[in-house]
Amino acid sequence: MTNPQASIAIVGAGCSGTLLAAHLLKKTTNALTVYLVERNPQQYGKGVAYSTSASCHLLNVPAGNMSAFPEDPGHFFKWAQQNEKKLLCPPWVTEIVPSAFLPRRSYGEYLCQILEEADKTAAAGMRLQRVIDEVVDVRLDSKGVELQLASGAKLLADRIVLALGNFPPGNPKVADPRFYNSMRYYGNPWLPEAYEAVLNTESCLLIGSGLTMADWCINLKRAGYAGAIHVLSRRGLWPKAHKLAPPADFSIDSDLLRPTVRNWLHTLRAYIRGSDCNWRYAMDALRPSTQRLWKTLSVVEQRRFLRHLRPY
Ligand SMILES: Cc1cc2nc3c(=O)[nH]c(=O)nc-3n(C[C@H](O)[C@H](O)[C@H](O)COP(=O)(O)OP(=O)(O)OC[C@H]3O[C@@H](n4cnc5c(N)ncnc54)[C@H](O)[C@@H]3O)c2cc1C
Repeated sequence: MTNPQASIAIVGAGCSGTLLAAHLLKKTTNALTVYLVERNPQQYGKGVAYSTSASCHLLNVPAGNMSAFPEDPGHFFKWAQQNEKKLLCPPWVTEIVPSAFLPRRSYGEYLCQILEEADKTAAAGMRLQRVIDEVVDVRLDSKGVELQLASGAKLLADRIVLALGNFPPGNPKVADPRFYNSMRYYGNPWLPEAYEAVLNTESCLLIGSGLTMADWCINLKRAGYAGAIHVLSRRGLWPKAHKLAPPADFSIDSDLLRPTVRNWLHTLRAYIRGSDCNWRYAMDALRPSTQRLWKTLSVVEQRRFLRHLRPY
């Protein structure tokens, strides 16, 4: 970043892209242009998870653990306290405390505000360029990166970061592929038209029983949906409710333990069995090191984790 003309293109302005842009604007001292490119204007700064406007769509992590700044773990909670009037929405949120699960939309506002402030207070020579467009192709050469945008425009940068987020789920395997084009099937649960279409039916089947299913059920119930909602889970799993308990003092020392999914699972289970700790808090205690742990796994082990453990 010693080049005064340096530039970086971040593709995707969800939580990851937005926070990367904000941290660069705050911490870099040399001249830098940050292009933050997002295809969906409604999601700019928020991404898929935090652009919902429904107050009943809550964060699945308590306010005290959602800070955007590792060096200031209470940052989001303090922001929430300052915005208390806007965030209280009974029966979903009745008090702003570190253990509260706040509306996801509030986290979207928080992220947008962080980006705004980082832009305003950035050092001289730092520039944030907001681009609403879709990146459809990328070419790398010795001089840098050329991004081809859906509008026909091109963007040149020294570096590129893909912060593309979660892709829509894959289609279930069925014998007759005409199913995928049926009016009765929606493969992407985040499309507003999918939700509108189901509202007028007498019954629906949700494939998958994770948190997106919970969002759907809450939305349908709030809209007065009287039909039957069937939920299908491959393993018969259901989201587990949170519980309040003292935080756990648990970590996995990846230097001492061979990085295999089996080893780590045994360590986690042994800790939970041998202590009074609720399993939720052992999992929470791992949060600060999940990135580091993930990177120490080989690709084979990462695949193993996704195949066997992810749903749990
Ligand atoms: C419904 C839901 C609820 C969640 N709740 C929580 C929670 O409570 N707490 C928590 O910690 N995590 C939660 N998560 C996990 C969440 O996904 C991550 O915390 C985080 O928001 C992911 O951010 P991201 O920037 O990586 O991805 P995304 O939010 O998916 O953002 C990626 C962005 O990239 C854009 N993009 C993709 N391709 C292109 C392209 N070619 N050109 C331009 N733009 C492009 C997309 O439009 C999108 O806006 C939730 C996830 C979902 C789906």
